[in-house]
Amino acid sequence: MGSKARQNVIIGQLLLLAAGGLIGWLYDQVLWGLLVAALIGLGWQVRQLLRFEAALQSRHFGSLKYGDGIWSQLYSRFTHQRHLVKFYRKSYRRLLKEVRKSTNAMPDGGIILNDDYEIVLCNKAAQSLAGFRRKKDRGQRVDNILRDPAFGAYLRSGDFSDGIEIRSPVFEGGWLLCRIVPYGAAQKLLLIQDITERRRLSAMRREFVGNASHELRSPLTVVTGYLDTLAEDEEVPAAWQKPLAQMQAQATRMNKIVTELLELSRLEGAGAARQDEIVDICGLLASAKKSLIGQDNIANVTIDCESRARLLGSTAEIESVIVNLLSNAIRYTPKDGSVTLSWTSSEDGASLSVTDTGIGIEPEHIPRLTERFFRVDPGRAREDGGVGLGLAIVKYILERHGAYLIIESSPGEGSTFTCHFPASRLAATEPVPIAGNP
Ligand code: ADP
Repeated sequence: MGSKARQNVIIGQLLLLAAGGLIGWLYDQVLWGLLVAALIGLGWQVRQLLRFEAALQSRHFGSLKYGDGIWSQLYSRFTHQRHLVKFYRKSYRRLLKEVRKSTNAMPDGGIILNDDYEIVLCNKAAQSLAGFRRKKDRGQRVDNILRDPAFGAYLRSGDFSDGIEIRSPVFEGGWLLCRIVPYGAAQKLLLIQDITERRRLSAMRREFVGNASHELRSPLTVVTGYLDTLAEDEEVPAAWQKPLAQMQAQATRMNKIVTELLELSRLEGAGAARQDEIVDICGLLASAKKSLIGQDNIANVTIDCESRARLLGSTAEIESVIVNLLSNAIRYTPKDGSVTLSWTSSEDGASLSVTDTGIGIEPEHIPRLTERFFRVDPGRAREDGGVGLGLAIVKYILERHGAYLIIESSPGEGSTFTCHFPASRLAATEPVPIAGNP
């Protein structure tokens, strides 16, 4: 409010009081004159206030157009603010409409959830992809709509760094990738993507690699058989000995590739590993070490079997993990180095580690080691029989066991490959027999 208006109010009130006082003085009643003037001033202000209040109540502000004095300014400011509010409300509504239109045009489903995973809002794709009903499902917990047990477990885990793939509740054979993105104080956004096509293509690729490897097996067996026979044949001219040996080595390598590709496509298609078999990790470590007997010029291997934890899973697959990691450690460690195999456990689970004092790996290569056919030094790996599929197989086997691989390495100092298994994959420890009991 301007200072002029404030001045006018004060001057007006003073003039009224002065007039009241003057009239009272004429009648020898100065105090009465002042009192009456003050009451008139107060009455007038109260009248303006009541008009304002009545207009607020009736929401009819036309009568406020013409106020008097400071009230006229108050009214006009008030009216201006009302127009502004109306304007912003209109533009927000328009904006909201645009946001709604664009989220409805999105091919992916989007659902806003509150702190208790209850549905606040969802877009059209959420309806078509996962069967959410925009109005009826509002306030429902999201796992009442997406009833897949894996999705329930995903919500309970509270770890939303990755998404989860579930079957579509709407389309037979459809698959959805669900991912929760927390935002704001406690709200969450559930994003749903249709991955049916992606899964179909990856199944096709898997099938193709599996079939191709399978088909290559028989001709390779014939070729290897003939090569072996020729290699043993003393009548073969000496000039052919070297090429024959090379052909044999390459045929062996091809056999290894085919076998590992078949193993990979089997692992990729399979679900979680069995839980009903107890894997004797320390026994597997001991036999892996034993299998090295007779191999000279290799690093010293020691076993550190610290834990009694028993793993639930597939013995054959865990044995493959140990063999792959141990053969790598030996290949990449000089003979005066050492390799340690260890099995430890804590409250969070158990770890199988293979540590070597070998050549180590540059940090930029570490994230790519589990990719198929990735080798830090392809020339060297080819020479010593590496095909670049060993760590990919390790990764898939661990995934099937709910485990993950941690690779730590320093070039020139050595590497540690740790397979961490969750506590849920460990069998309850055997009860310790009480002395004297049978
Ligand atoms: P490969 O059959 O070639 O060993 P892997 O998948 O087992 O294939 O390993 C991929 C690459 O990772 C290897 O070619 C090698 O460069 C690197 N690597 C694996 N283990 C070790 C290790 N213990 N020390 C150094 N490098 C390693």
